[in-house]
Amino acid sequence: MEQSMDEMINNLKSYLEYLKGMGIVSIPVSENIPEKDTQSKILTLAEIREELGDCKRCKLHRTRRTIVFGEGNEKATLMFIGEGPGYDEDVQGRPFVGRAGQLLTKIIESIHLAREEVYIANIIKCRPPQNRNPEPDEIQSCNPFLTKQIGAIRPKIICALGTFSAQTLLKTDTKITALRGKLYDLEGIKVIPTYHPAFLLRNPERKREVWEDMKKIDEWLNHPI
Ligand code: SF4
Repeated sequence: MEQSMDEMINNLKSYLEYLKGMGIVSIPVSENIPEKDTQSKILTLAEIREELGDCKRCKLHRTRRTIVFGEGNEKATLMFIGEGPGYDEDVQGRPFVGRAGQLLTKIIESIHLAREEVYIANIIKCRPPQNRNPEPDEIQSCNPFLTKQIGAIRPKIICALGTFSAQTLLKTDTKITALRGKLYDLEGIKVIPTYHPAFLLRNPERKREVWEDMKKIDEWLNHPI
């Protein structure tokens, strides 16, 4: 039986109330993350890496040493997405291997997970000169590959590390201080923003908030809502 417009609106309102009751406070515009159970072709991480190739799709290719694709468990339930590679990552070709990376490893271990059990990536895959902020055209060029990686892994939860990651994934310009600790929905994947480990190195008094966010992630992983 076809629904009337009023019924559809009422059903939508009920659904949004239901999501709000679960703590989901925002639904961003579709990112077109491939679904595993649809006809759309899901590439493996190896195939995505092959497609990326020796990427020159944005100007960052001129100054990078290596492409930092991402690493970890292809079947991870938890994915961390940071901003972009820094000096150490550019040299080693791996994400989060400097001081901030060591702190991220401790953050992961705080909820009894090993670094190898999660997947770690960044919004952009090449280091910006002098670690400047990524520019919109660079994010736009790189984002399709991150979207494919998310589609390949289909984690239950993405922890967005820092302003650029949270704002890019959630398509918002809201500050990280307002975004952190809340649960968002990205096409069926829960997203929780928290502070970037590099920010914590400069502001250790904010660590407690990140531990609180990690406790929520632990709870949601083990008792899905
Ligand atoms: S940042 Fe991304 S889009 Fe730009 S060159 Fe590197 S891999 Fe390619």
